[in-house]
Amino acid sequence: MRSRAKRPLTVRLAMACLVFLAGWAAYTQTESGAPLTPQRLQDDLYVIEGTTNGENDVGNVTVYITPEGVILVDDRFAQDYRGVVAAVKAITTQPIRYVINTHHHGDHTGSNSQFLPAVEIIAHANARKHMTENKMPGPPPIVFTDETDVYLGGKQVRVIYNGRGHTDGDVAVYFPEARAVALGDLLAGTRGVTNPVVDYTSGGSIRAWPATLDSVLALNPDIVIPGHGRVTNGEGLRAHRNKVAAIEKRVSSLVHDGRPKDDIGKILVTEFDYKPINLRSLDGMMAELSAAAR
Ligand SMILES: [Zn+2]
Repeated sequence: MRSRAKRPLTVRLAMACLVFLAGWAAYTQTESGAPLTPQRLQDDLYVIEGTTNGENDVGNVTVYITPEGVILVDDRFAQDYRGVVAAVKAITTQPIRYVINTHHHGDHTGSNSQFLPAVEIIAHANARKHMTENKMPGPPPIVFTDETDVYLGGKQVRVIYNGRGHTDGDVAVYFPEARAVALGDLLAGTRGVTNPVVDYTSGGSIRAWPATLDSVLALNPDIVIPGHGRVTNGEGLRAHRNKVAAIEKRVSSLVHDGRPKDDIGKILVTEFDYKPINLRSLDGMMAELSAAAR
């Protein structure tokens, strides 16, 4: 997901005033005024959940603390930088040493340019390619294609590419000691309902997505941190994998039957609780599945 709802000017001005008046509090809050309170998952693992507008349209940030520094997964929009840094300072004195981007979208990479050059930023080669092609700020200086590992303070973090899904550059960030994985928008939703959103302009694929998640499930994680929405477990991830596969199967058969886009959209909303705004990827999904059916 990458949209961020525009607020009316009066609301934005009111928020700016509040932030100005709030002094120290402003430093630990986002533009929206929502306090950034990291949620503890384990002693060394936290998530800063996105809750803006009650829609979770701001990405989750994973915080992994080691004795030699902090590793973040994703860094939200540029305007969230100060709030994210302050939230990390509130739970550890260790400096932020690495940021790993799960994919290129601006709600996951927007603070990159502010973290650079002091912090190492890592992403998949395709994520960097999309950022440079789209002239996005802060493309990651370090890229990889299959897997790269970060060793810091006696701990290991595995950054693994499992295949296409939301884009062609989504990675799973696996913390073996914590048996936790941060997945970016390969798993994303609002209010406990996940929807696969396929970015076809960036190499996404509904057909490849279930197998990509199967590789993540093979890691057997206990804690699963989505790109947006609530932290879940292996069972929650499996349910999402099965939902993606069911959507692929259903849309494929509807396309095969020659059903129009409007009908298919309505079916996704009623049968799968699909969020109407996410239907923007339906044209691409239908094209991909009709090409596959031939
Ligand atoms: Zn995204």
